[in-house]
Amino acid sequence: MTTAPQEWPRPAPPEALASAHAAGMRLTIDLDALVRNWRRLAGRTAPAECAAVVKADAYGIGVSHAVPPLVSAGCRTFFVALPEEGARLRAFAPEAAIYVLNGFFPDAAALFGGAALRPVLGHRTELEAWAARGGGPAALHVDTGMNRLGFRPEEAEALPADLVARAGIDLVITHMACADEPDHPLNAAQLARFRALPAQLSGVRRSLANSAAIDLGRAYHFDLVRPGIALYGGGCRPGGRSETVVTAEARILQVRAAPAGETVGYGATEKLARDTRIAILSAGYADGYPRSAGRGALPPAAVAIGGRAVPILGRISMDLIAADITGLPSGAIRPGDWAELFGPTIPIDEAAAASGTIAYELLTGLSRRAARRHLGGEGG
Ligand SMILES: *Cc1c(COP(=O)(O)O)cnc(C)c1O
Repeated sequence: MTTAPQEWPRPAPPEALASAHAAGMRLTIDLDALVRNWRRLAGRTAPAECAAVVKADAYGIGVSHAVPPLVSAGCRTFFVALPEEGARLRAFAPEAAIYVLNGFFPDAAALFGGAALRPVLGHRTELEAWAARGGGPAALHVDTGMNRLGFRPEEAEALPADLVARAGIDLVITHMACADEPDHPLNAAQLARFRALPAQLSGVRRSLANSAAIDLGRAYHFDLVRPGIALYGGGCRPGGRSETVVTAEARILQVRAAPAGETVGYGATEKLARDTRIAILSAGYADGYPRSAGRGALPPAAVAIGGRAVPILGRISMDLIAADITGLPSGAIRPGDWAELFGPTIPIDEAAAASGTIAYELLTGLSRRAARRHLGGEGG
């Protein structure tokens, strides 16, 4: 089966455009914290194997930076969404098992073969196409309650054992819909359906847990766990905290004052209740900081200056954010200083919640305009 993967133009590699000294937004990515997060999860879930989900360029932090230290730390299995992501990952993880969550499509056969990728197969036609091509290590996805990808349990039940064997199935996975809500009844229901899988799949390794499902307890760990967001410092429930990996900061361009009664920003949505000192930051929605964090956000969005949280004023512009610094000592803040958008003072989950979104979307939406600096990662 030959394909021509060059027919469509490929996206530019996800390198940052900006240099740190000229940037408006800068991202500091702590690879040692990433490795500590992985090690902590691996320790908590042993003897299950701890994989790493690195789809979407490792949730935006950069596969080329994130993967080598994870490999050195002992991570042997990775998950991506797409075959191109897997082919790119292969250069940084030559020995690893790489599973492609969105499965096998014949157009991409050359990528699967060339980079020894393992598809996660989710319906009969796809399974047959993989087997017809000779099979090879692959995962089977069983949908236990999400109605997204995967065989329904009764479809998995009906699979001929010889087809499963010819396809080379070496892992069975399912994915949880509500693992971030520990009391949701669907959690136990999905667990029960996954446990009841049919005989032709017994003896094959099993994997259920994403980051949040790891916190549901040992019964959810099976043979292999698949954390993503917890590696990158997000998606945390109290008690399950992972360390901050990504810090986003914006350059302060101006410090100004405006009297009570005036308004700030587009739409004049923010009417000042008091005389106000304002810092103008060089970041906006074009950098991936959501416009929905602006005026009206619930809970209110904040940035931090000098380690203290201060509220955002008015709407987020494409390239600018206004912050209320009236409560900070006057003279303490100057143009050229940096304000934290999220990081050690403003947890990424809180910054995301203030924009009506989740840390996953915030991380994967950070734009190429931000300068990126990676710390550590040599220790392994
Ligand atoms: C993205 C994804 C994961 C990782 O989820 P997190 O919530 O980021 O830990 C695991 N499994 C599947 C199937 C996924 O799509």
